[in-house]
Amino acid sequence: MRMSRMYLKTLREVPAEAEIPSHVWLLRAGMIRKLVSGVYGFMPLGKRSLQKIEAIIRDEMNKKGAQEILMSALQPAELWEESGRWYAYGPELFRLKDRHERDFCLGPTHEEIFTDIVRNEVDSYRQLPLNLYQIQTKYRDEKRPRFGLMRSREFIMKDAYSFDRDWEGLDLSYQQMYETYAAIFTRCGLEFRAVEADNGAIGGTGSHEFCALSEFGESEIVYCDNCGLASTREQAAAVDQPAPPEEALPLEKVYTPGTKTIAEVAGFLGVPESRTMKALLFQVYDQDYDYAAVFIRGDRELNMTKLVNLLNIPEHAIEFADETAIGEATGAVGGFTGPIGLHDCRIIADSELIKSPNLVAGACEIDHHIKNVNYGRDYKADLTADLKLISAGDPCPDCVGKVKLTRGIEVDQVFKLGTKYSESMHAYFKDENMQEHPLVMGCYGIGVSRTLAAVVEQHHDDDGIIWPLAVAPYHAIITLISPQDPIQSELAEQLYQRLAEAGVEVLLDDREERPGVKFKDADLIGIPIRLTVGRTAADGVVEFRLRAEGQSVEKAWAEAAGQVIDMVKAIDK
Ligand code: ATP
Ligand code: MG
Repeated sequence: MRMSRMYLKTLREVPAEAEIPSHVWLLRAGMIRKLVSGVYGFMPLGKRSLQKIEAIIRDEMNKKGAQEILMSALQPAELWEESGRWYAYGPELFRLKDRHERDFCLGPTHEEIFTDIVRNEVDSYRQLPLNLYQIQTKYRDEKRPRFGLMRSREFIMKDAYSFDRDWEGLDLSYQQMYETYAAIFTRCGLEFRAVEADNGAIGGTGSHEFCALSEFGESEIVYCDNCGLASTREQAAAVDQPAPPEEALPLEKVYTPGTKTIAEVAGFLGVPESRTMKALLFQVYDQDYDYAAVFIRGDRELNMTKLVNLLNIPEHAIEFADETAIGEATGAVGGFTGPIGLHDCRIIADSELIKSPNLVAGACEIDHHIKNVNYGRDYKADLTADLKLISAGDPCPDCVGKVKLTRGIEVDQVFKLGTKYSESMHAYFKDENMQEHPLVMGCYGIGVSRTLAAVVEQHHDDDGIIWPLAVAPYHAIITLISPQDPIQSELAEQLYQRLAEAGVEVLLDDREERPGVKFKDADLIGIPIRLTVGRTAADGVVEFRLRAEGQSVEKAWAEAAGQVIDMVKAIDK
C-alpha cells in the first residue's frame, strides 16, 4: 500500500476522552474512531490488525475441529424467556420492538441461539461431540463504557459452544478450548494468565478467565506462589481470621459524636478497625423482601459477587440504599447503623464476623455506637457466608502461603455450562438405547476487539504502538526520504515490489512530507520493521530498523529484503 493513497489520519494530540495507553494509541494511530460513547469504528489499519487476530482465532479453532457459523445479532425475546434470562440479564440487554410490537434484543451473547439451532438439528449421540463458533458483533448496554475497545457497548466476540453427551465429554471439550486459547493468545504476543473465575449471569459449574497482564486491567487476580492458586479476586474464598475467643462482655452504648466512618469510630474509641463491624444497606428489587443489611468486619471489604451469588439474584436486582431514605422502614441511621435496632430487612453476616467477639457496632441512633456486640447473644442473621474480598497478604485459601494481587484484562472467559440451557430449552439427544438426555454444554468467548486493545496495552512506548509481527496491520514500512529523487524512489519501488511478491505486507511511505513526520508516523502506527531509503540509495544501501529495538543498521537492499522475508516466514503458525 502506498501511503500517499492511504486513508489514514494520525493525531498529534492525546484525545481528551482517552485514559489508558491502548485507547490513546489506537485513536492517535488512526486505527479506531468513536461514534458515540462505547461505540467505535475501525479504520483501515485497525481493521487489518483485527483481521489478523480473527485469522489466528479461526486457525486455532479449526485445528480442533470447531466449525464456524454466523448467527444474527437480532434475537427474539421468546428464546430468552425460555432460558429465563430475559429478566435475569437486566438493563445491559439492548431491547427493542419490531413494528408488530414483538420483543427482540441485540445479542450480548448467544447461548440461547446456539442451543436453539442445535436442539432442532441434533438428535442422536452420533452427531456428538460438536463445537460451533462464530466471530460476530455483540451488544451490551454497559453501565460504564470506557477505555475505548476495552469496555464498549458494541464489540466483536468470538463465541464458541460445545455440545457433548456427558460430563467427561465436556471436560475434554473444555480442556481443548483451554489449550486453544493459550495458543491463540501466545500467537497474538500476549503475556497472560488463566485464572479461576465466577460463573456470573451465564450460570453453570466451572469457569476460567484468560487475563492479559496489565496495570490498567479491570480484573483483579489473586495468586499464590506457594501452591499455584490463580483466581479472580471476586472468585477467591477469603479465609476467616477472627480474633481469639473472649468472654462476651456486657453491651455498652457509647456517645461517639460525628464518627460516621469506621476509621473515625475506631480512632475515637481507640480500638483497631478489626474490632468494629460495618453495615452495608441495600435496596433489593423484585424479591419477597425489599432491604438487605450486610455486616462485615470494619477492616474488610464486601465482595459483591459473593453477595449476589448467596442471594441468588441478578446483579441488577440489588443496589446500595440511601440509609436516610430507608431509615423509617428499617431503623437504619446513616453512619450509625448496626444489627441491634434494625428491623424489616434481611440480615446477612460474614462468616468471620460472627466468630469475632466483643465488636463495636452502630447503635441505630445518631452519634451513638454499642460496644461488646456478639453474634448469637445480641443479634442473629438470616444468612451467613464468606462475603469478604480477599486482600494482598491474606492467607491462601488452599495452602499455608500468603496471596498476592495483580491486575489483568479479561480477554476471554470459558464456562462449563452443563445442562443449564439444554434443560431449560429442551435440547436433548438420544443415546444408543434411544434414551433421551440433555446435551452437556460449554461456552467459550474471546473479546476480539478487547484483545486488540490488550495487545496495544502490552506493546507500546512513548512514541506509539509496537505491534508484534503476527498481528501488525503491515509487517514492514519503506520510508522513502525524498520521493523527488529518482534514485531513491526507484530503489524504494524495487524493494517494495520484491517484498510484496514474497508475501510481505508492506507500506511505502511515498508522501511529500518531511522525513521527521514520516518517522514519527511509522513509530506511531507501530509497523514492526522499517526500511529507510535515503542518501545511501545510490550504493543500493538501506537502513534497517526494528520498531521494538530502535537502533538502525545499514544493509545492502537485497540483504535487507531477504531478512524481512525470513522474519515474516517465521511468524508462528
Ligand atoms: P466483563 O467482566 O469484562 O464485563 P464478561 O464476563 O461480561 O466480561 P463474557 O460474557 O464472558 O464477559 O464475554 C466474553 C468476552 O467478551 C470477555 O472475556 C471479554 O473479552 C469480552 N467482552 C465482554 N464485555 C465486553 C465489552 N463491554 N467490551 C469489549 N469486550 C467485552
Ligand atoms: Mg460484563
